[in-house]
Amino acid sequence: MRLNAPMRAALEASDDDRIFFDLAGIEAQYDLLLSELPDIAVRFAMKACPVDEVLVRLAAKGSGFDAASPNEIAQALRTGVPVERIHYGNTIKSDQNIADAHRLGVRDFATDSLEDVAATAAHAAGSRVFCRLATSGDGALWGLSRKFGCSGADAVRVMEAARSAGLTPSGLSVHVGSQQMTSEAWQDAFERLADVLTALNRRGILPDRINLGGGLPALGYLDSRGTPLDPPLDKIFAVIREGMQHLGAASRSPLDFVMEPGRHLVADHGAIRAHVSRLSSRGQIDGAREHWLYLSCGKFNGLYEMDQLQYRLLFPSHPGTESVQAVVAGPTCDSDDAYAHDHHRVRVPVSAASGDPVWVLSSGAYATGYMTQGFNGFDPLPYTCVNSD
Ligand SMILES: *Cc1c(COP(=O)(O)O)cnc(C)c1O
Repeated sequence: MRLNAPMRAALEASDDDRIFFDLAGIEAQYDLLLSELPDIAVRFAMKACPVDEVLVRLAAKGSGFDAASPNEIAQALRTGVPVERIHYGNTIKSDQNIADAHRLGVRDFATDSLEDVAATAAHAAGSRVFCRLATSGDGALWGLSRKFGCSGADAVRVMEAARSAGLTPSGLSVHVGSQQMTSEAWQDAFERLADVLTALNRRGILPDRINLGGGLPALGYLDSRGTPLDPPLDKIFAVIREGMQHLGAASRSPLDFVMEPGRHLVADHGAIRAHVSRLSSRGQIDGAREHWLYLSCGKFNGLYEMDQLQYRLLFPSHPGTESVQAVVAGPTCDSDDAYAHDHHRVRVPVSAASGDPVWVLSSGAYATGYMTQGFNGFDPLPYTCVNSD
């Protein structure tokens, strides 16, 4: 993604390491999503950007929140959003978590097991539950498979148990995996949803909500050759629109559709200002000579996903100079703190010197939440919101 003028000005204005969020850009992304999928209600997945200013803007646009813990629910409530627009989307909860969420007013709970349904009935009596179906995660950069969701056969059992326990079996959910790069994954998800919905309808269970989860891609990441990833976003939207229509037609009861985008709304509207720690060249024991560019930020302070994703790096003090191929890494004593792809190389200016600024684009998702409290003594990045008037 290109930097707009206010973001560029903010990045240029001072010199500390910092992450910037473009609030107007995030709002525009929200509008764009709703223009593609006008019939969905958005429940922003808070973990992708748990920044109060961002959440307040999204809430004002009509978004609700997918929260994963009582603390996230409390943060969502502080935006002023009505509690009906917050759901507990994490299938993993202790009895205490469920009771706390219920006390905070939440009545919509994701589930995927009989054990969790029993706990929800005990600690959040009368609530609405939606059962998460497992997906393979194929085609996604972060699969989110196995840990969450259940088979279709289990989903029917879970929903029947919910009904027997006095809960409202209100819906089904899926997550196709984060930064999902294929439209086929969506196709597959709709087929699973349709099968389970039909089985539920036959048993007299009439869900009124389908939650399509997250997984919509950001556009600004690079592939391992350094070219833009180019996910088939238009095709994905077309498959989702068609899937919603077919599912609605097949259902015995009217369906509301909900989505929980995280990355798609924020990734391309955040940028990090970091610095060159050192560009060095070292002979390896296999005889290879490698350039390594060590940055002031890495896996533990802003770029947690750097072993899966590659970001566009800008070197604003080196316009168009001679370059070398370097491995890019963060500043810590952890060898995971690097672009891992088999020591994949990035073109960097040969004269890059310690202290030179480096801008990391499309770094707005999963940056702030994943920062450690000073691993090896490196501070988490402070943030600034731009375009906030
Ligand atoms: C993380 C998460 C999301 C957001 O996923 P993205 O790929 O960032 O859109 C949505 N729903 C649930 C339940 C999640 O855990």
